[in-house]
Amino acid sequence: SNPNLFAALRAAFPANLNAVAIDTDEGHSYSWRDIDRATAMIANLLHSLGLPADSRVAVQVDKSVEAMMLYLATLRAGYVFLPLNTAYQSAEIEYFLKDAEPAVVVCSPRNLGWVGRLAAQAGTRHVFTLGDDRTGTLLEQAMQQSDQHEIARRESGELGAILYTSGTTGRSKGAMLTHGNLLSNAQVLKSYWGWRTPEEGGDVLLHALPIFHVHGLFVAIHGALINGSRMIWMNRFDVRRAIARLPEATVFMGVPTMYVRMLAEPALGRQAARRMRLFISGSAPLLLETFNDWRDRTGHTIVERYGMSETLMLTSNPYRPEDGERRGGTVGFPLPGVGLRVRADDGSGLPAGEIGGIEVRGPNVFVGYWRMPEKTREEFTSDGWFKTGDVGKVDELGYVTIVGRSKDLIISGGYNVYPAEIEGYINEMPGVAESALVGVPHPDFGEVGVAVVVCKPGERVDGDAVIESLKARLANFKIPKRCFIVEDLPRNTMGKVQKNVLRQQYGALFR
Ligand code: ATP
Ligand code: MG
Repeated sequence: SNPNLFAALRAAFPANLNAVAIDTDEGHSYSWRDIDRATAMIANLLHSLGLPADSRVAVQVDKSVEAMMLYLATLRAGYVFLPLNTAYQSAEIEYFLKDAEPAVVVCSPRNLGWVGRLAAQAGTRHVFTLGDDRTGTLLEQAMQQSDQHEIARRESGELGAILYTSGTTGRSKGAMLTHGNLLSNAQVLKSYWGWRTPEEGGDVLLHALPIFHVHGLFVAIHGALINGSRMIWMNRFDVRRAIARLPEATVFMGVPTMYVRMLAEPALGRQAARRMRLFISGSAPLLLETFNDWRDRTGHTIVERYGMSETLMLTSNPYRPEDGERRGGTVGFPLPGVGLRVRADDGSGLPAGEIGGIEVRGPNVFVGYWRMPEKTREEFTSDGWFKTGDVGKVDELGYVTIVGRSKDLIISGGYNVYPAEIEGYINEMPGVAESALVGVPHPDFGEVGVAVVVCKPGERVDGDAVIESLKARLANFKIPKRCFIVEDLPRNTMGKVQKNVLRQQYGALFR
């Protein structure tokens, strides 16, 4: 059989290809046959270009079902898919195109001018457009192609995608993912999260995430397709529409900010979630308060999972009660087949409960950073484990807790301060919506913590009072030296707090 990921997804299509595979929130519907035919036609178009093997297909388009078809067609044709965040502007796109040297670039019709120019500069010969309303040259030309296509053979170790990291801690790196990485992770999640095939009653995924990132592109799309499950498709997350469509769905995946925004809607309740089987959260830490409020309001306990571009999904809270309870504030257990260990700075092992660097290995771990052999070597240990850059601990039962990123760790007067711990205390204070702790340079202590706090709507919090109340509970070296009240935390499109922005903003406080 063919180890191409698309072959496995295609094999999971239901026998009745006329059944509905996707319903969009705009009222269009697509059958499984539509997916098969459209991906064949786009794959044939790509083949007709005579691209060299391993060609990258770089895509920056608004979310649409056709954009998903383009992803699947790229796999089907055996090329390497390279999605780009729709928020990226010219400086970013210039970097990615020069770095990746894609053979094909697909952009939104309205961006053709500037993206086309940058693509030409990067040596790209083929530029297409694709709008979120089925417009653009990609589909026009694909329509001329045959709807029959034999899936290209790809071995497990060959590249299926290059996914640039979110750039939360610095410049994005291109994580090279193989067909084997993607397929093994999809299979593990299918069983761990108890997906039900159509014969078993079926699942319906409400897909409201962007598709340029691991969460929406891989976890969500692979999850539904490899299970032959229908999707309700939203081109953008609209909180009221999401709640309106929830009663038809059984599975929902979101980033924490989506859950927070849904909780702010009175329409969210048990009735809206009555058919739901599974709520997944990830990409950024889910606040304990959100986890608890969600359970109170909907009667469902969110399953928080942890993963990254380089490794796909690593851990998850249990789905089945016999595997354990879902613990808020933790990211659950390493997934079957994933090795996870915690190491001290000197590389030595640590006992349960001790905090250190999280290292992982498994069939899901990427093969390296695109054109960064040096960086790739640095991020793997001599015995082959990948250093995630996240800091955390594993308790006696095996639950993994993330306490921050190594780059966000604060070393104050020689002591380690873990941001998540302090943020946890601040978040529980009355009137506080959320907070971030960052380290800034200090002449005496090397670094000190600065807390940045957002209040709940209509509430007021006093920064000095926050510090006073921490003093009553925590060791002195953990106490932030200053506390600022702000309107919002700076976040990127995946809802991740950009601590580098905060560090810059407050960096000169003690200089
Ligand atoms: P960059 O590597 O460019 O700095 P990034 O690490 O944010 O960006 P991604 O690969 O998109 O890019 O995100 C992976 C990171 O997201 C993880 O390393 C982890 O820090 C964070 N993350 C993912 N899921 C969770 C979670 N459930 N709880 C806490 N952090 C999470
Ligand atoms: Mg990262």
